[in-house]
Amino acid sequence: MIADVAVPAYHGTMHFAEEILFAAGRRGPWAMFFASLIYFGLMYASFAGLGWLLFRRLLPALRIGRPIDGRPLKDGQIENEIRRSLGSIFVFSCYAPLTEYAYRHGYIHVSWDYQWPLAIFQLILLFAWNEVHFYVCHRLLHTRWLYRHVHRIHHESVVATPLAIYSFHWFEALLLGSVIFLPLFAWPFEFPALVLLPVMSLIFNTIGHSNYDVFAGTRYSASVEHSAHHHRVAGNYGFYLPFLDDWFGTRLSQ
Ligand SMILES: [Zn+2]
Ligand SMILES: [Zn+2]
Repeated sequence: MIADVAVPAYHGTMHFAEEILFAAGRRGPWAMFFASLIYFGLMYASFAGLGWLLFRRLLPALRIGRPIDGRPLKDGQIENEIRRSLGSIFVFSCYAPLTEYAYRHGYIHVSWDYQWPLAIFQLILLFAWNEVHFYVCHRLLHTRWLYRHVHRIHHESVVATPLAIYSFHWFEALLLGSVIFLPLFAWPFEFPALVLLPVMSLIFNTIGHSNYDVFAGTRYSASVEHSAHHHRVAGNYGFYLPFLDDWFGTRLSQ
């Protein structure tokens, strides 16, 4: 099991997340799957919930910033976004037993050294990879067949909400969920960098779907850009940073 191969020379105090991961790894693929289900479920509930409170209640009440698209939500939109997000969490969690299998058989490696400067550097690299991975997947999802049969579901939220952060067709969830799985085959990343990437990604994903203009007038007004993508559809394919849309000429004019 995972702990037998993972830490033969590790004698430090195990961190909480690492302890849970190892305990699940020892109990087999289903435990890994359920641990991942709880991890992503808690992350979704926290970020979508906080995003909803912040961008749809608190900031408007305090008159800080402004909603981007003032149109009302569609009937049943919130229910659909939550239901589909739970489906995506199920799909993301399928990567957990696969990752454990690949780790146990030595196809992938993880560094458990907790070298924080290195972990932060790797987190920045992984965030750049996240941007490239999302841009490529998103452009693929906007090809005719995949848009019609898969990605259209995400665009049903014409007015974006923080609850739509994981509102995907199962195939889109499978494609986007590979963002952490794939780099594991390339390099033994520091454990904190791997754990923090989904957290960092979800913070920016929530801002992107906030439909709320907090950073108006800057080059990093991702909420404005992703809102424009939701209702104009073609263009602004990037995740958070503007560079790839600039380089490939896919940035929508504001
Ligand atoms: Zn979106
Ligand atoms: Zn799209």
